[in-house]
Amino acid sequence: MAGPIPTLGNPKNTIEILNKYRFVFQKKYGQNFLIDPHVLDKIIKAADITDQDYVVEIGPGIGTMTQYLASAAAGVTAIEIDRALIPILQDTLQGYNNVDIINEDVLKVDLKELADKKNNGRPIKVVANLPYYITTPIIMGLFEKHVPVSGITVMVQKEVAERMQAGPGTKDYGALSLAVQYYAQPYIAAYVPPNCFMPRPGVGSAVIRLNVYEQPPMQAEDEALLFAIIRASFNQRRKTLQNGLSHVPELGISKELTVRILEEMGLSASIRGEALTLEQFVTFTNLYIRCLKTARKV
Ligand code: SAM
Repeated sequence: MAGPIPTLGNPKNTIEILNKYRFVFQKKYGQNFLIDPHVLDKIIKAADITDQDYVVEIGPGIGTMTQYLASAAAGVTAIEIDRALIPILQDTLQGYNNVDIINEDVLKVDLKELADKKNNGRPIKVVANLPYYITTPIIMGLFEKHVPVSGITVMVQKEVAERMQAGPGTKDYGALSLAVQYYAQPYIAAYVPPNCFMPRPGVGSAVIRLNVYEQPPMQAEDEALLFAIIRASFNQRRKTLQNGLSHVPELGISKELTVRILEEMGLSASIRGEALTLEQFVTFTNLYIRCLKTARKV
């Protein structure tokens, strides 16, 4: 244990701190603070934090989870956008000598550079009770910018967690499922009801753990193109893949070409994008790239 025992994470102590600083909740920042120690224990357990780990926490709030993380990890950097929370964090985290606080919008922080600096380029772990209004940009930013990260354990809206974990043939399956599963193996570690937060959110929540691959098991030759194809397929969810892709002229994939590639993959010309697995999307993308290269040669 690298510091004192966590003291926040129950309603009484949370209210005391909020009153001491006359803190006013900012709805625009998605502020719902955890007040249940059992949930905090579950998050720390799901994140599998050891004293060898360096952790980045996004949105520490009043420092409730930060105290737990600082007790378990070698070091923590906590990034908080709300300036009013900084003096509170300096107070609640004063007993921990392994925590740095950054007052910044996480979307503006170069997390790759931060990981390089704080952990000598070794993979960090990201743990957060995320502000729900920017869940997707935060997670996709970590993946697409290739931040060295081995595990991401985050509280998100229940429906979003289910979408991340969904497979083909289910209603939740979509561009987010495929993007997350390209980079990581997801599993939902816990469902968390609104009464575990202050104030209570209007939606249910879930803790999801993403075990990030060192290398994606199936690699697209052009990741940006893979995701553009995936997005185009799900924009037109009820359409066949050939119609969906031909609706996005920037992709330059004609109906005829889609059918030819599908044939080569042994798939029906009338298949819908929502029926394709991640592997099939990757294969489709790589075959399309091969067609482009061949066309350039002739
Ligand atoms: N971790 C705390 C807890 O569990 O009690 C607070 C979680 S609360 C759901 C989300 C936190 O993220 C808030 O403290 C909010 O101010 C902060 N936040 C919102 N948008 C942010 C952003 N763009 N960058 C950094 N922090 C942000």
